Order: sequence, then structure tokens, then C-alpha cells
Amino acid sequence: MKPKKTRWLLISFLLLILVAAGQSFAQGKAATLRQPLKVFISVDMEGIWGVVHGNQCSSDSPEYQIARKWMVQDTNAVVQGLFEAGATEVVVNDSHGNMRNIIASELDPRAVLISGSPKPLSMMEGIDSSFAACIFVGYHARAGSFPAILDHTISGAAIYSIRVNGIEMPELGLNAAIAGYFNVPVIMLTGDSETCRQAQDLLGQSLVVVPVKEAVNRLAARNFARDKVLADLRDGARKALNSLKNVSVYKLQPPYHFEINLHNSQQAELGVLIPGVKRPAPRTLTFTSPDYLEGFRLMRALIALAGVS
Ligand SMILES: [Zn+2]
Repeated sequence: MKPKKTRWLLISFLLLILVAAGQSFAQGKAATLRQPLKVFISVDMEGIWGVVHGNQCSSDSPEYQIARKWMVQDTNAVVQGLFEAGATEVVVNDSHGNMRNIIASELDPRAVLISGSPKPLSMMEGIDSSFAACIFVGYHARAGSFPAILDHTISGAAIYSIRVNGIEMPELGLNAAIAGYFNVPVIMLTGDSETCRQAQDLLGQSLVVVPVKEAVNRLAARNFARDKVLADLRDGARKALNSLKNVSVYKLQPPYHFEINLHNSQQAELGVLIPGVKRPAPRTLTFTSPDYLEGFRLMRALIALAGVS
């Protein structure tokens, strides 16, 4: 090999090394610049597209198997939009009934699934302050709403209404306050039109809502065109995460006064045995807690006791 050629080869080789080093430095810098953007999704079932009856939400009914597929489809559309908007991690918490509705292998494989029950934070299990945003999918209106598909608050059999600091709460409000406890804003909700209205009334008009159906009454609805709903869910999630800075965290002021109105007086008999719980009316239990999560847990215990009183 001639010396001149050798020198040329050496220079080319050094140039290649410099280019490669530059590229890997740029990639490393990009990786460190990409901050984690974690999103938590709580998925209920009554507000899923196509669902209009309790049989579709009960695992012992033949109608349930198709409804749980709609549930995962609605969820996947939202997950897709979130990753398109730059989410780095999405955690999905199955939040209906026995909380084993979402077929794990059918969920977008990029998402983490929390499945099963009971869970300490129930519909909000898995959330903490590392999340940038929270989304409610398939949610329903509070007990006593009309027209609204399968309206109830936590337990259709026990609860007439729940008030916290005087505000009558749908599940979306009770759960938004848990997100708020961890300083996580709720950025989007999907469900029937009435649930979307209740969400914006409580959490603010800048909340992105995607109505998937309009209730005719409690057990009938006009389901919007499926293709459009899936596109709206995906677009809504993308838009919600892109405009994250516009939404505020939902926070109630301590101390937290809970008022649980039951359907009948018998349902208050066991709950009132707990120290600190009062019974100002035959079917009403109240208590005050300095900590929202502590109050939320006691509320759940009282609802469970109402079921066995
Ligand atoms: Zn549910």
C-alpha cells in the first residue's frame, strides 16, 4: 500500500469515528432531554360506547363478553392518542365491578394494566405524584341524574347521594380529588353526554370531554357512530395531553366533611358503630377528616358496611 493512500485511509477512518461519536452524543442528549410524561387512566364500564344496560356490565351475563371488548377498544383509542402526544408511560386501572374486565392481552401493549380487586384506592389505585395527568374513561353520572345511562354513585344498592364539603359528588369528583391529593390534574373524561356535563361543571370547562353516547333514559341511549367515536377518543387524548398546562388540579379544602345518604335506615346501623361517625338523620352518616385519602377510605368502609347491615 502506498504511504499517500495509507494517510487518506487514516483520515477517513478518523472522520468516521468523529461522525459516529457526534451522533451518539446527540442521541444521548435527546434521551436526557425527553422528560418522563406519565399518564394514569381509570376505566369504568357504564360510560363505554354501546353500553346501555347493567347486563352488559355483569360478568355472569352473556352480553358482557362483547361489552368488555368495547371497553378495551375505547381505552386503546385514548392510549394511542396519548403516545402520539408524547406520553412516555401509560398506566390503565380497571375500575369497574370486580375490576377484571379489560382483557389484558387486548390492551395496547405499551400500556401497564392494573387489574383485580379490592385495591386500597379502588378506581384510583396506582396513581401517585409521579404522574403528569389523569384521564377518566367510560365514566357515568352521579345517582339521581337524568337522562343518564346507569347513573349511580359507587353503590347503586346503598347510596342515594354523597356530599363532600357540601358538594354532591359523582364518582368522577371523588376520584378527581384523589388525583388532586397527588397534585395530578384530570385532563379528559369520556362517557355519556350528561356525565361530560357534570365533569365540566365540577372540574372546569377546559376539561376535554368526549361524549360517546346520548342517554334517552337510564337504560337507553343513542350511541354515536363507532368510527367517529374512536377517532374522537384518540384526538381528544392527544389534544388533552398537548394542552396539559391549561388545566388546574382539583382540590377541596380541608377539613373534609363527608355526608353519606343511604337508601334506608337499616344501611346506617353498622357504620354508626365506628368512632367519629355520626348519624344526624336516620339514613345519613357523617364524619370529618383532616386527610382526604383517610376520609375516602372511611367512606368506602361505610358503604361496604351498608351492604351487610
Ligand atoms: Zn362501573
